[in-house]
Amino acid sequence: MATAPLIGDPLSPTPAVAQETLQAVFEDIRSHPLFEHELHGCLNCGICTATCPSAHYYDYSPREIVQLLLTENLEGIHEAMQEKIWACAQCYTCAARCPFHNSPGGLVMIMREVAIKHGMQSAKDVLKPFTRVLMKLITTGNQLAPNMITPDAFADWGPNVAKIKAPLKTLRMAIPVPTLRTMDTAWEVNLKTSIELYTIWEASGVLQQLETIDPNLFDVVSDLMDEKRDEYQEWLEEQQEASSPD
Ligand code: SF4
Ligand code: SF4
Repeated sequence: MATAPLIGDPLSPTPAVAQETLQAVFEDIRSHPLFEHELHGCLNCGICTATCPSAHYYDYSPREIVQLLLTENLEGIHEAMQEKIWACAQCYTCAARCPFHNSPGGLVMIMREVAIKHGMQSAKDVLKPFTRVLMKLITTGNQLAPNMITPDAFADWGPNVAKIKAPLKTLRMAIPVPTLRTMDTAWEVNLKTSIELYTIWEASGVLQQLETIDPNLFDVVSDLMDEKRDEYQEWLEEQQEASSPD
């Protein structure tokens, strides 16, 4: 069988990619239900890039992203997905300013979804630091907890890091809302709510995406979810027993 031709700029650090891969990636972007809502045309005016905060600090331009998609530059699209698309801050200033009512930030979101679907290394690298947050979310229903705020984790706070040394536990006991008087979680989330969250992840394809990006983490997460579901089932049965007449 003939090998598919590889496409790549010989001067680019990005390895050449098979034409059929480039085509498949672009088809997934173009067929996304939001694609036509986010892209209507482009004047190439550059207003989006002029107002984009990420464009000020990174080698990134929303105008370039829109032009790549509009001109169906498959190789350029694939290359942008290896780093540039992760620079967008998702602030949507571009969408508010574009005279063509495009949403470059929305297009970037679609490209990120497709990067995850195709298991691109850029997606794996960007999402790796969120493992801890995901585990916290599964076990407690919260992304962050007061006891995760440590001077080491927030060295970039400068002198303000001293505020972390405040007696947080005591201060939180003074909060009038009882569900906020915790240190292990930002607030208490009941088991039923967590189980509902797992159902949303499954139904929306989030777990499937996780399996593509990090199969080991997916296994750990699935086991934890099963444990929580068993726990909930046991609680339901206990309630039923307690309420049934002897
Ligand atoms: S502001 Fe809109 S029309 Fe102008 S370059 Fe950006 S996407 Fe194109
Ligand atoms: S959403 Fe992204 S592309 Fe648009 S202005 Fe914000 S950072 Fe820039």
